[in-house]
Amino acid sequence: MKHAQKDLYSLTRPELGALLESWGLSPVHAARIWNLLYLGLAGSLSEMGDLPPRVRLRLAAETRIGALPVSRETDSSDGYTRKYLLSLPDGERIETVLMRFTGRATACVSSQAGCAMGCVFCATGQMGYRRHLSEAEIVSQAVHIARVMRSSREHGRLRNVVFMGMGEPLHNYDAVMRASDILRDPSGLSLGAGRITLSTVGVVPGIRRMADEARPIHLAVSLHAATQEERAALVPAARKWPLDELMDACRHYCASVGRRIFFEWALIDGRNDTAEHAHAVGRLIRGMPAQVNLIPLNPTPGYGGAPSHGEAARRFQRVLSEHYAIPSTVRQRRGIDIAAGCGQLAVTARPG
Ligand code: SAH
Ligand code: SF4
Repeated sequence: MKHAQKDLYSLTRPELGALLESWGLSPVHAARIWNLLYLGLAGSLSEMGDLPPRVRLRLAAETRIGALPVSRETDSSDGYTRKYLLSLPDGERIETVLMRFTGRATACVSSQAGCAMGCVFCATGQMGYRRHLSEAEIVSQAVHIARVMRSSREHGRLRNVVFMGMGEPLHNYDAVMRASDILRDPSGLSLGAGRITLSTVGVVPGIRRMADEARPIHLAVSLHAATQEERAALVPAARKWPLDELMDACRHYCASVGRRIFFEWALIDGRNDTAEHAHAVGRLIRGMPAQVNLIPLNPTPGYGGAPSHGEAARRFQRVLSEHYAIPSTVRQRRGIDIAAGCGQLAVTARPG
């Protein structure tokens, strides 16, 4: 029965072993299938080569491989960014972005179709919430990018995954964490040791849970403002999870995991980019092992703000470093012409 078929991308390696065992098959086959999925990057059973017939028959009957068909593929004129519109089985569509650097690649994956958080400057927020993605749908995006890299002439490989595509990953906690476990598996895509970064709007219970479960992935928190009032105007979710509670959760995270935390700050001209704003964020996060990632605002249809000028970004950085010894980076503007920059991902047309 088709609906009962298990998506192989939804299984951790131990679970794949247990499945094969429940069929009375040796773990040797599980290891082989895992290799074919994540080292061979097989996108279908027919790409799985020389499996014994009894294994193949069982797989065909009871499992599937949820490779997501590409509806559209767009290259950025900067040559570094490519955006994929992927179709989900129920007709929803999501965007996944490949960011290339010399010889290595980062996949920017979606965790939901749309997003419920409604940040005013974000195209995904502007389109609203459609649904959560399953762990298999998340894993499949990374595998897709790994496959693209394998077939590209550069022979680079997928090195990092960032949960900075569509959706709020901590609103879909279980699927995101299961997908991360699958992606980190050292005998598979092997994206362990700090190669996965999750960006959150500031879902306090999710941050605390990540800390308490000692999740081995980097955390980035979208701050954008250093007072509750200013933040709530940009990020409606701040009304549910106020700034002081968010900061407590961030401190708890740093103390428990002993790892640095990233704060993201979309630089909006005249709105949150003055020296006073930089001082306010410096005072707010002082004492935490933090790095600030400044993202000059990317244009979206539903928001009229403009990106800060380069000088404002440099001044912001200077204040942070000279007064508070906080390191910061200004994120390179990439993929803006194809709306693949931070906060620009949205699917406007209904699936058809
Ligand atoms: N939902 C998560 C992750 C996806 S968005 C989050 O909000 O953190 C990734 C980053 O892009 C976030 O820091 C988000 O605030 C930022 N962003 C959203 N819209 C943007 C825009 N128009 N310009 C620049 N950054 C934006
Ligand atoms: Fe959702 Fe993040 Fe966009 Fe806010 S910035 S609407 S949380 S995807």
